[in-house]
Amino acid sequence: MSTNLKLGWIGLGNMGNPMVRNLLKAGFEVTVFNRSKDKETPLIEAGATSANSPQEVIENCDVVVTMLSNDAAVKEIFEEKTSGLFSKSGSGKTIINMSTVAPDTSRYLARLCEEHQIAFVNAPVSGSVKPAEDGTLVIIVGGQPEAYEQVKPVFEALGKTSIYVGVAGVASSAKLAINYLLGLNLQGLAETVLFAENNGVSKEDMLAIVNEGACANGITKIKSTAILNDSFPAAFALKHLVKDLKLANEAGLTSPLAQPLLTSYSKALNDGFGEEDVMAIIKSLK
Ligand code: NAP
Repeated sequence: MSTNLKLGWIGLGNMGNPMVRNLLKAGFEVTVFNRSKDKETPLIEAGATSANSPQEVIENCDVVVTMLSNDAAVKEIFEEKTSGLFSKSGSGKTIINMSTVAPDTSRYLARLCEEHQIAFVNAPVSGSVKPAEDGTLVIIVGGQPEAYEQVKPVFEALGKTSIYVGVAGVASSAKLAINYLLGLNLQGLAETVLFAENNGVSKEDMLAIVNEGACANGITKIKSTAILNDSFPAAFALKHLVKDLKLANEAGLTSPLAQPLLTSYSKALNDGFGEEDVMAIIKSLK
């Protein structure tokens, strides 16, 4: 595949928007569709073309990427009878779903694509808005190896690496596993800072101890600013982590911390922090 190939993109949220920008920068021709049309505007200004429906996207493109909230949104975009991806023949085309969905949903999408003679790649990402902007996402790939080879140039524009893990569904399991670790990290960071604060240690000092020591990692460093400023605009919305922890639970994650972690983030969601960044877990724990 070369950058001459026509790309379609459906879903221009926190992740989709910067990802499409990187594809345009890399020289791809991109047709976009977003349910709320206002989110298309900056990308049209940057050179993308707007489509009126997912059907129009697949009609005009060789490879279509979906980057949508959740399983229900992805299924709706694929299945919608009159304007969805499958409402007309997409035979010979390729669809890449980069949204985080259940392994079962990825297997279902793979079956649907096969029935429609469409190649399917399951490619959730690890990394949030900053890596999406920097083109340094880690892309976890499942599906047919030939289809993966075909779309590698797309992944090269979006990420620092892509890792092929197996058939469709396996990549979704890997994504749920890494998000479990993300949830544990942020829950642990929040609990640590609050315990320290309750015992006379300032959050500035505690975060310096974390980030200068062996317990530091990329995510503790990235999220420290939000904790220090007590401001949590969504990079990765807390509601999406609750979704992922539920999906992991349904996919068989029953290890000792899995249920308490889901309970804690679900409480934060019920407390009204769903639209804020996942680090807002600290506000719910306070
Ligand atoms: P987001 O900002 O909430 O954007 C969601 C997108 O899905 C929007 O374009 C939204 O359209 C669209 N959408 C939702 N329901 C829809 C429906 N029923 N029909 C059509 N479109 C619909 O989400 P995001 O942060 O970009 O995340 C996208 C996916 O990537 C999620 O699966 C998330 O778990 C995963 N992910 C996110 C991050 C992160 O840090 N943000 C990192 C890795 C993976 P509207 O604009 O019209 O609402």
